[in-house]
Amino acid sequence: MSKAIQAVRGMNDLLPDVVERWQQIEIAAREVLQAYGYREIRLPVVEKSELFARAVGDTTDIVEKEMYSFEDRSGEHLTLRPEGTAGCVRAGIENGFLHNQIQRLWYAGPMFRHERPQKGRYRQFHQIGVETFGIESPDLDAELLLMCARLWRALGLTDIKLELNSLGTQECRATYRRVLLGYFDARRDRLDEDSLRRLDKNPLRILDSKNPAMQELVAAAPSLLDHLDEASRAHFERLQEYLQAAGVEFAINPRLVRGLDYYTRTVFEWTTAKLGAQAAVCAGGRYDGLVEQLGGKPTFAAGFAMGMERLVELLLQRGDAYQAAKPQVYLAMLGAPAEKHGLVLAEQLRDAGLRIECNNGGGSLKTQLKRADKSGARLALLLGEAEMNNASITIKDLRAGDTQQSVAQTALTDLLKLKFAMGNRS
Ligand code: ATP
Ligand code: MG
Repeated sequence: MSKAIQAVRGMNDLLPDVVERWQQIEIAAREVLQAYGYREIRLPVVEKSELFARAVGDTTDIVEKEMYSFEDRSGEHLTLRPEGTAGCVRAGIENGFLHNQIQRLWYAGPMFRHERPQKGRYRQFHQIGVETFGIESPDLDAELLLMCARLWRALGLTDIKLELNSLGTQECRATYRRVLLGYFDARRDRLDEDSLRRLDKNPLRILDSKNPAMQELVAAAPSLLDHLDEASRAHFERLQEYLQAAGVEFAINPRLVRGLDYYTRTVFEWTTAKLGAQAAVCAGGRYDGLVEQLGGKPTFAAGFAMGMERLVELLLQRGDAYQAAKPQVYLAMLGAPAEKHGLVLAEQLRDAGLRIECNNGGGSLKTQLKRADKSGARLALLLGEAEMNNASITIKDLRAGDTQQSVAQTALTDLLKLKFAMGNRS
């Protein structure tokens, strides 16, 4: 036998049992997003490499070392998207849906980053992302956070905490950059290799360091909040007032800079203590400069993305009783005539709204009943020679001591609807 091929490291198969948890989140998210007037957009997984270099920033981890980039057969430089915002803005400029209008959009799908795979950190991972365009005022920032909070509630996730910061405008960041450069430059001997490299290009990135050895130095660094311009400070204060009024708890974290360069003013992260080092389940903020940076007209913008794998892990840890819809009925069929008739009967039951799994491929009664039990259905229907002869069907309750009754096939649909307490479908 030749050696079996394995999946790419850091790229996971999602088997049906876990996919049901994913769907639980997807369904809840869709409902919450719709409740705020957000509409879904679907975008390509592959974009020109230049898009990410320009949007995400040349000196970010993502662009420096995590992108899956390749040259295609016609020599184009392409990249598997590492995040969704850049593509969304690109699409908005290209399709003209950003300028002079308000857009509330969301998307879901895989993202790719060549990181070191570990629990909660994968090379193909999935996000649900939200982007809003055309609103400057912080009531929008508050809405984004309320939406997240509503989703956590809908999923019953109680241990997710909000951290907030403001990065101010590009201009006040330039001032802060000089202050920070001075601080770290005077302490060069304590910087790790990554930070030394970032020092001249982008000292703000050092604040985002995950290296524990750097934490003390980072904690004592000058605070960005002391360098905010007046308008940004007022914006940030209003956001805090709105959140207080709406009862959303938060903590201000002046070191929160986020891993992408495009943010301005509000940035935030939702984190949990339950996932070890991979603590952030959702992150985002305002990126008022990005649309222009990518060739569009100046457009206010803000958004966030949540990590599906990490949210799924929280649900799995809780071991909640979520059950995806299993078949209600399993149809066992014995003999060729019963198989033919059963196919038609099952269609009629589905027309009436029942979920029914058929025993395809024959087998003894014993085998078929074993499969019925495994399917999770409550009832098994038996269709054999005797039933075919007198147009009846045997109903076996698999979850109530194997009780059994015989009914006329013509009475079956109504009886099942009654048993599953289903109203009449018109
Ligand atoms: P982290 O600090 O964990 O690396 P990030 O700042 O790189 O996260 P973002 O780019 O803001 O993350 O992405 C938003 C969310 O997507 C994160 O909060 C996280 O939940 C999830 N995420 C990011 N990278 C990965 C990954 N490699 N594997 C799984 N989930 C991820
Ligand atoms: Mg990261």
